[in-house]
Amino acid sequence: MTNYVSAFFYFTRLQNLEQIKADLERTALDLGIRGLLILGPEGINTTCAAESLEALDSYKTWIKKYFNAEAIVFKDSRSDRPPFRRYKVKIREEIVTTGLPGVMPPEGKNHHLSPEEWNRVLKEESDFVMIDTRNWYEFKIGTFKGALNPDIEKFTDFPEYIEKQGISKEKKMLIFCTGGIRCEKGILELQNQGYRDVYQLEGGILNYLEKFPNDRFEGECFVFDHRVAVDQNLAPSKQYVLCPHCGQPGDTKVVCKRCDHEDRICESCAGIESKQDTCSKNCAHQWELNPGKKGHRQLLPFELEHKVRTGAAALDATIAVTRKKVTRINEQGQAVTVNSCNT
Ligand SMILES: [Zn+2]
Ligand SMILES: [Zn+2]
Repeated sequence: MTNYVSAFFYFTRLQNLEQIKADLERTALDLGIRGLLILGPEGINTTCAAESLEALDSYKTWIKKYFNAEAIVFKDSRSDRPPFRRYKVKIREEIVTTGLPGVMPPEGKNHHLSPEEWNRVLKEESDFVMIDTRNWYEFKIGTFKGALNPDIEKFTDFPEYIEKQGISKEKKMLIFCTGGIRCEKGILELQNQGYRDVYQLEGGILNYLEKFPNDRFEGECFVFDHRVAVDQNLAPSKQYVLCPHCGQPGDTKVVCKRCDHEDRICESCAGIESKQDTCSKNCAHQWELNPGKKGHRQLLPFELEHKVRTGAAALDATIAVTRKKVTRINEQGQAVTVNSCNT
């Protein structure tokens, strides 16, 4: 079943976050929206999904009105299964983690290039530096041809990376990220360091791919939900899954030596002896405790949810996660992990 997905953010000063959270949750429930929304004193940042286009459109209309956000850019895509299990609002100091809370992008445009303008620079000019502001594992599965990889673990390391490069302040600088939000703060850092000829890709890679699939962006674009990545046509990745050992995108096939389950793990874990031939943290751990001993694969929370929903498991089914924790189904049919001593 097609799920309609939209990613968007909006910087605006907000107060009474608990009230806003309640309003968002009520609206999402009314319209059948799922997703994760980060809410903070500086605005909102979210990816969300609905099973009907009408529901998603109503939600967008509500958002625009509620936050007085006419200028918001929605990046739309699709998924053939729900990319989120539920709707969740998380309150955070920063709506995108940069280590620069309180650094607020100015209202309106700040050196944005539309996908069309971006393409024109890439194709007609040569004297510029283009930097991928995302993390190294996102760069690895896809990026713009010719982009520099700062090779950072987290965005907090970006300012120092730029300083160390010693790039001339006169240079034309282009920066981009997944949906544009990191660059809104990243460009301020570049401007603070004295760069003037700096530009950010409006709406990020997702907005670019909507207009120009199979052009200057190569590979797939990592996204922050169950799809793991989207391809050139913004369809969910068929190549990558989240590595069960470490959570990075992985496409190395393994057959688990403990449970015989086939899965995919990431390149880094494929090079680590304790992880390379196992399908999960649990199997790796069990194999270390009892080398050579076969066992069953541990179900994942969403697999348990699915089993209960389809009647393949009883309502009181649980999964032992660790010695002290279990996952069980609550009254809403959702898998939750709790301390097993609470039974
Ligand atoms: Zn891994
Ligand atoms: Zn296994």
